[in-house]
Amino acid sequence: MQKLRTIKGTHDILPWESHKWQKIESVLREVFAAYAYKEVRTPVFEYTALFARGVGEFSDIVSKEMYTFEDKGGESLTLRPELTASVARSFIQHNYQQEAPLHKLWYLGPLFRQERPQAGRQRQFHQFGIEVIGSPHPEADAEVIELACRVYRALGLRNWELHINSIGSIEARKNYMDILRAALEPHKDGLCDTCRERFHGNILRLFDCKNPECGRIMKAHAPAILDHLSPEDTEHFNALRNYLDAVGIPYVIDPALVRGLDYYTRTTFEIKGTALGAQDALCGGGRYDLLIRDLDGPDTPAVGFAAGMERLILAMDAEGLFEQESDGLDLYIAPMDSRCLEKVLPLVTALREKGYRVQLELLRRSVKAMLRDANRQQVQWVAVVGEQELEKRSMNLKNLRENDQLETAWDEIGAVLDRTSKRKPI
Ligand code: AMP
Repeated sequence: MQKLRTIKGTHDILPWESHKWQKIESVLREVFAAYAYKEVRTPVFEYTALFARGVGEFSDIVSKEMYTFEDKGGESLTLRPELTASVARSFIQHNYQQEAPLHKLWYLGPLFRQERPQAGRQRQFHQFGIEVIGSPHPEADAEVIELACRVYRALGLRNWELHINSIGSIEARKNYMDILRAALEPHKDGLCDTCRERFHGNILRLFDCKNPECGRIMKAHAPAILDHLSPEDTEHFNALRNYLDAVGIPYVIDPALVRGLDYYTRTTFEIKGTALGAQDALCGGGRYDLLIRDLDGPDTPAVGFAAGMERLILAMDAEGLFEQESDGLDLYIAPMDSRCLEKVLPLVTALREKGYRVQLELLRRSVKAMLRDANRQQVQWVAVVGEQELEKRSMNLKNLRENDQLETAWDEIGAVLDRTSKRKPI
């Protein structure tokens, strides 16, 4: 029989690794709260049409990577491959614009893409991200980018770099695509098959090609999109740069940064992990003023980013940013037998209720084995409970960190634990 295991490209978040996720998630929640963003949670599957229309039928995501299936009612459904389209759908469906003129939203959750798995690329992965819906102004772009940088700074990550670009409004981009096509026409034969296929479609995708010869041709012959923006687009981009300068955020202007998704307008940006391998994008985003209208919603400008959790963890691991995990256990109680267990249980429950972290021996081990385990778990205090302790209603609390002992009445145990405990009542 075939062994049961995770599906290719998917991973368990193991109990001894989940503290990394929790640390990142708690920093994220603090940062999002400081910038006044609200969480939105959408379903993990949606009607396929949402992504076909929202992400663009010709994008790699939609044409090659989606997990699409028919349900028993014959509906075509898809496991979400990204979250912006879902958030836009939610905005339209629930008339967010009637609640307030501006919505600042964050999300965190699993996504699904049928890509070739490799380090930093999975089939189920997780993204956190934000969307600012309602503002056409460059200060919204600046806030989104500044927030993304704040997350990496708050987590202590050092090896990353911000890249920014503008791909202009739809008209300027159409015009630029013609200019690009004309400039590359003489070099077309040197391009790879895929780039030649894309030449007459979305030629901007040529910037994403990883083939070295295509890269060389693009570098040598592709005109910079920034030189072909409208005056309004240029003004928007310059204002964004001024705001980033004002808050001291360094950036690289990267004219090749056009991003794979069809819905971007004006600002695009990416944060690259400079110590990561081939899959070096930590975070990507930009402005998408046309998406909500294209999905039959009100004409509403928006800007946002999405960032990978797994790649962030890889980058933080490489910089040694996760401390050795300690569960912060206050007390380990080992009853000598089942009668002692029964008598001490109400005390254990009362302590846990007050928020002390109490481990109760569940394996009926010898005192020696129990002590070894308590040491491994870095527990602060240990107590063995036998007949004598029950009779006196006291315990010999052994401090494993400082190697001393305290004879303590049951009523006083809380006071002793309080010297070191980080408890919060539950
Ligand atoms: P995208 O939605 O493609 O712009 O990706 C945004 C971010 O999500 C990237 O910068 C990565 O950090 C992360 N990401 C995208 N695809 C994957 C994947 N297949 N596995 C892991 N992380 C991914």
